[in-house]
Amino acid sequence: MSHIIVIGAGQAGSSLTAKLRNLGFDGNITLIGEETAPPYQRPPLSKAYLLGDMARERLFLRPESFYADQNITLRLGTKVDAIDTAAKTVTIGNETLKFDQLALTTGSVPRFLPTAVGGDLDGVYTVRGLSDVDAMAPEFIEGRHVLIIGGGYIGLEAAAVAAKSGLKVTLVEMSERILQRVASTETSDFFRALHGERGVDIREGCGLKRLIGDGRVNSAELTDGSTIDVDFVISGIGIMPATALAEMAELTLENGIKTNAFGQTSNDAVWAAGDCASFPRNGEQMRLESVPNAIDQAELVAANMLGAEKSYAPQIWFWSDQYDVKLQIAGLNTGFDQVVVRDGGAARSHWYYRAGQLIAVDAMNDPRGYMVGKRLIDAGKNADPAVVADASADLKPLLKA
Ligand SMILES: Cc1cc2nc3c(=O)[nH]c(=O)nc-3n(C[C@H](O)[C@H](O)[C@H](O)COP(=O)(O)OP(=O)(O)OC[C@H]3O[C@@H](n4cnc5c(N)ncnc54)[C@H](O)[C@@H]3O)c2cc1C
Repeated sequence: MSHIIVIGAGQAGSSLTAKLRNLGFDGNITLIGEETAPPYQRPPLSKAYLLGDMARERLFLRPESFYADQNITLRLGTKVDAIDTAAKTVTIGNETLKFDQLALTTGSVPRFLPTAVGGDLDGVYTVRGLSDVDAMAPEFIEGRHVLIIGGGYIGLEAAAVAAKSGLKVTLVEMSERILQRVASTETSDFFRALHGERGVDIREGCGLKRLIGDGRVNSAELTDGSTIDVDFVISGIGIMPATALAEMAELTLENGIKTNAFGQTSNDAVWAAGDCASFPRNGEQMRLESVPNAIDQAELVAANMLGAEKSYAPQIWFWSDQYDVKLQIAGLNTGFDQVVVRDGGAARSHWYYRAGQLIAVDAMNDPRGYMVGKRLIDAGKNADPAVVADASADLKPLLKA
């Protein structure tokens, strides 16, 4: 009987195996994951779960019984050490498993602070997995001082949770402004002000020189020349696609594990989806780090493993929660040359244009702006900047234009 092995029991791995069964595949499926928890959603790790507002069980994507009910062999706490594409086997310690088709859904690995700057001290955390968050949660005690390194979404979400929990928060961002890599000046300004109102000390153009402590971190030297006392540190300095296994197996890498439009790697029997995989779009290999991408791409790969031959065309959207602000993002703002602000007071959105064409929207507590923007972008339509900029103008007619 045919055997599909999926390596990486996260968002994409869980979606892929569920979809295989949903599409009627009745061969053997083995889903292998290094972490001990059943596949879970990561977004709440830096939001509601870290705040203590969400029960652990609610993180799980499907009840553990789902996998047994669907006859999916779920092997947790199990790291795949190697893949032999010629023999079509994977190695786990001394054990060898044979596959007919293989999917890599290995996700991302965080960048760690180097030991040379004190990254190995106790009290220094990253926010990638459930075990990271469970380890840092007891540190969130009112009145303590946390240093957050990195002003991307993960760092800012952690800052919001810490400030809400009554901690003193300092956040350093090496670039000129927070969110510089992913958002406009307008969006950076909005979130800087939001955190400033909550007392978060955001220092932009300021990096970490080194962390100091005897076993455990107790202070930090910053590149602005200051030294601050800290109780603990959260590092949110980015992630990289988890490509180690693919590299060992000599699969082609390009911005992650390179796949074709079907999600197939340079080896016909091996597929990839989620954070670890890049796919062709507009003449380059694009890679997305988001839940919608992990689900959609994994489900497409499941169909293609069964012969569907469908090309991947992502609908790009993302979100972030900070305090009482829900940010929803539609599209990709790469190469934007104009930002139109729609300021409706409590509801606000920033519309990105490239050469006069709408390409992305950042909507802050503006679900209508997000919804209209997303539908326009998905349909390749445009939005008159004059209408967008007038917060009293109805956006819906734009959809009919
Ligand atoms: C704190 C946090 C907040 C986020 N917030 C958002 C958000 O608000 N919105 C959004 O859209 N996205 C968000 N993301 C991103 C989103 O969670 C990821 O894009 C998504 O989880 C990717 O799914 P994946 O299946 O590719 O990888 P993962 O879900 O990371 O799963 C990969 C799994 O593979 C396992 N693995 C790797 N190598 C091996 C091996 N050799 N053997 C066995 N197992 C292996 C890993 O242990 C891991 O469990 C957030 C991520 C984090 C960490």
